[in-house]
Amino acid sequence: MDYLTEIVQINCPYCAERIDVLVDTSVEIQEYVEDCSVCCQPIVMEASVSALGAIVQVRQEND
Ligand SMILES: [Zn+2]
Repeated sequence: MDYLTEIVQINCPYCAERIDVLVDTSVEIQEYVEDCSVCCQPIVMEASVSALGAIVQVRQEND
């Protein structure tokens, strides 16, 4: 894949809405916080990138 970003769909751990997140696939494992575009609460994203693509696990900030 030539692009350094990949769009992954996740479900917000607060409001359960499906949202698209952009993952930087040049980094193998990363954790960052991004506000939900629907409910604006801080979602902790754990992204891991493999040859098959990016996988994102989400959780609430205080878990
Ligand atoms: Zn939300």
